[in-house]
Parts: sequence; C-alpha cells; structure tokens
Amino acid sequence: MKHFKHIVNRLGTRFSDQRTYYWIFLAVLLVPNLFLCCTEPLPFFGRLALILVPGAVWMAVLTASRRPGIVIWCLLPMLVFGAFQLVLLYLFGNSIIAVDMLLNVATTNSGEALELLGKLAPAIVGVVLLYAPTLILGVMSIRIDDRLTGAFRRHNLGRAGIVFLAGVATLFGARVQNSEYRARLHLWPVNIGYNLTLAVERWEQSERYAETSRDFRFGAVSHRADSVREVYVMVVGETARALNWQLYGYERETNPCLSKTDGLVWYRDMLTQANATHKSVPIMLSAASAEDYDILYTHKSILTAFKEAGFRTAFFSNQLPNRSFIDHFGAEADTTVFLKANAQAKGEEYNPYDEVLLRSVDNLLADTAVRKLFIVLHTYGSHFDYQERYPVNDIHFRPASYESVTRENRDILVNAYDNSIRTTDKLLYGIISRLRAQPNTAAAMLYASDHGEDIFDDRRNLFLHASPIPSYYQLHIPCVMWFSAAYDALNPAAHAHAAANADKPMTTNVIFHTLLSVGGIETPYRNDSLAVTSPFFTVTPRHYLNDHNEPETLDRVGLKPQDIEMFRRMGLEYPASPADKAMRKSK
Ligand SMILES: [Zn+2]
Repeated sequence: MKHFKHIVNRLGTRFSDQRTYYWIFLAVLLVPNLFLCCTEPLPFFGRLALILVPGAVWMAVLTASRRPGIVIWCLLPMLVFGAFQLVLLYLFGNSIIAVDMLLNVATTNSGEALELLGKLAPAIVGVVLLYAPTLILGVMSIRIDDRLTGAFRRHNLGRAGIVFLAGVATLFGARVQNSEYRARLHLWPVNIGYNLTLAVERWEQSERYAETSRDFRFGAVSHRADSVREVYVMVVGETARALNWQLYGYERETNPCLSKTDGLVWYRDMLTQANATHKSVPIMLSAASAEDYDILYTHKSILTAFKEAGFRTAFFSNQLPNRSFIDHFGAEADTTVFLKANAQAKGEEYNPYDEVLLRSVDNLLADTAVRKLFIVLHTYGSHFDYQERYPVNDIHFRPASYESVTRENRDILVNAYDNSIRTTDKLLYGIISRLRAQPNTAAAMLYASDHGEDIFDDRRNLFLHASPIPSYYQLHIPCVMWFSAAYDALNPAAHAHAAANADKPMTTNVIFHTLLSVGGIETPYRNDSLAVTSPFFTVTPRHYLNDHNEPETLDRVGLKPQDIEMFRRMGLEYPASPADKAMRKSK
C-alpha cells in the first residue's frame, strides 16, 4: 500500500511538471513517423530523415508556449492526419496518405464510410487510445500552475536546431542513396501537405469542369441507316476481380449464366488503369487514359459522342452521386437517373440490389420508336460490404455472414464476395436476354469492372482497393462483350476481331474506343488502334495512372513479388526486366 502511494505521488509530481508534457507530446507527434520508418521502402538516410527533420520541427514548435498543452491543441489537425495515417497503415500495410485517399474521403458518401469504419474497429480503438489521452493531457497541461522555464525552452530550441541540421544532412544522404528521393514525396508530414494541395487543386479543376468543357464537341456522326434499330449497353462494374470469375478459370461456379452464353467474348488479360472508382470509371467513359489523363478536364464523355451521332442516351446509376467526373459525365445523357439519390431525396431509405437497373433498361427498350439507343449502367457490383450486395435468396456460398473483417474470416468474406459476383453474372445475363429478345435489333453489351479488390489473399493481408500501391488483385479485372445475331449481320467483322483479340494484353483505356467502333460512331477522337473490335488494334506497353496522375509502366508501380507471381500464374503479360531482355537477345 505504501509502495502504491509512493508511485501515485511520484506520478503526481511528474504530471505537475510541464517538461513531462513536452516530451510526451513530442513522442505522440512522432508516432506516425516511427511506423512509416518500418513500412516505407526508403533508403537508410530517408528513414533517419523521417525522424530527425519532423522531430526537430516539433521540438521547436512545442517550445512556442510555456504550456505545451496549448501547442498540442493547436496541432489538432496534425493529430487527425496522424490518426488517418495510422488507420491507413493498418489497412494497407504501407504508404502515406495519397491524393486519391483524400479525394476518396471527399467523394465517398458517409453511409459507405461508416460501413467501413465499423470493420476497422481494432485500428480505430488503437488510434483513440493514443490520441484521446494526449488531448486530455493537453487540457491538464493548460490547467496546472507549472510553466516551462525560459531556460528549458531556449535549451530545446537550440537542440532542435542541431537535430534539424543533422536532419537536412540525412535528406541529402537519402538523395545520394536514391536519386528519386524527394522530401515532398517521402517525408511525413511534408508529403501530406503536398498531397493535400494537389487534392484541392484537382477538386477545383473538377468543379470548374462545366466551364472548361463547355465548347467541347466530338464532331461525331454515324453513317448507319435508320432502318436497323441499334441498342448498345455499357455496364460499368464495381470491385469485381477476374480471379473470382469462373470465366477466368476460378474453380467455383460464379458465372453460372455467362459461362453458358454463346458467342460471349471475354478479355483474359485486361488490367485497370486506376484502382479507385473516381479515376477508373472516367477513363472507361472518355478518351482520357493513364497516358493522357488531363484531357478529362476539357473533354466530354462517350455519352455525348453517341448523342451527337443521333443516339438517345441514358445513364442509370445504382451508386450515389459523389461530385466526381462520373456525375459530370452521367449528366450528359438525355436521361440521367441516380436511383438511390432520387429515393433518398424523397427521404426514403433505399439501398437496392443492382437488379433494379433492369427495370430502367426495360422501360427504355419498350419504346421501339427509339431507333438508336445507348445506355450506360453504373452498378454497385461487389463493393464492400459484400453481404449487402445480394438478396438472401441468392446466397449460394455459405456461410456468408460475418461480424468483423479479419484474416480469420477470410473464407466467409470470399463466400460473400463470390455471391456478389454471381449477382453480377445474373444481371449481365438479364441484360443479354433482354437485348436478345428485341426483334431486328443490332445490339451489343460491354461489361468491365472498374478495379479489383484485395481480400487477405497473401501474407501481406491486404484488404479492399484504392490503396496507394495497387496489387495484382486490384488490377486484373473481368471484361466481357456480347453481340446479338442482328449485330453480327450488320457488322460481322467486329465480333470476329473482338474474339481474335481476346487473349491480348490491354488496359481499360480501350473501352471508350471499342464502344465507339461498335456503335459506328465516327469522330476524330476515336482511335482504332485502341478498339478491340478493329483490325487496327495494337498491343502497346501498359500503363497505370499513379497517385500524381502520371502514367507508370507496370514494373514501376510498386508491385511486389507476390503480385508478379500472380501475373505469371494467371498467364498475364508483365514487362520483362532489362536482365530478361538481355538474356533473350543473347539467345
Ligand atoms: Zn470502384
């Protein structure tokens, strides 16, 4: 008892001394840096810089007041970013908060974010346990009588100066070790500041889009006769990965309908150019690509191209509008319906399964007076929470309900995920059946997923998508095409070329040009070397759109050996290393 009292007394003395708070706050501010030191692929001096430079700055900043509690409360935004960063590290295993993560936060609706937050409980608890007591200590520091002495503050300011100089030296050292090292990219929190600026810049560019794209014209025409009715349906998938599609060799029955559909063509080696919805879908809907992404801000989408060529156009979405380019593009259609948003605007709780989109298609198809029709469907597909994506009656793989997302629950998660793929299979088959039933209608459907998903697939324990560095599982997506008999009669070569190119390596930037080619839409913006239905389709090196919106070849996006092994196992093309090339040459 005596001993216990002694400890309490000593703690009491400690916490009546402002110096205790000073050092605790310094340590807390450096926690994200300590984690990043272990997780980031940095040169040795880069790791040192990660501690020394910010350490020196916080040492100096914390001397700004005689009560460090005031400073820590002023640094609240830093603590919030720190918490965000730690949760992301828990989720992805590495990488700093990316521009896309910041934009995702802005473009993801709150319901979706909450769905996810519930599943991140361990990380959230950890973060709360770290930062909540810090803020309480901040209040205590403000309220106690003690003050940092002038001598202590001067002394630590001097120390901070010395540490800072050492830090600057390590920055140079890091640059010598790796010429691509940059403080704005690799030094936390400088990189957060840089990414935040980029995110704001992009957000503003997107907000100005109406103005910057106002005068854009495709100059599109179609020379096909009105006597043939034409209907084209583009289905934008969500979070479906090729690995779990029966068509792509998955041993489970996830494509019971499509695998029995005659004449279906699927692209075995299709990769997405971006792993976040708000970047990937605009690439599919427009001429923008990883290679030339910024034209997004001045161009219009495929809906306008078809419209200019005389088509009636429609955009139906089972996702919520999120102020991204998907909304801008969707709004170009003659009919634009965000099914969920419409219901929610009326105050209804509405989270329908994708099959609801079929009703919208039915209504349009019923009007046979419309001779030319182009429909874009934006599905919710296999987006987390998987178990919410299909009705109870459609549960095929069991058990498929889980309370928490952990590696231990992987089998159950995959069951639920696979059930969602079956739902997409049924939806696509539903569309094909409807198109097939249209008399004398040249019809085609193209489906492609926007990106894949990680589901605790290897010892990295990755989960979800939109991570700053993609994985094989996020890149390899399913893409299928279907043509009606009347379409084959109208344009027999297209189906044949589509099938002949089915095994070639490609990325999602082919979708826009392929659909223009299928629809016979002629415009100077159509590039037939990117249309799989064209005799001019050409295989070129594949690119991925990085976080700073620059194209990166696959060998530079940061894929890990596990990913490259999956490329090999799935028979996908991967750029040969310089050593491989040299060896092949010498043979
Ligand atoms: Zn997506």
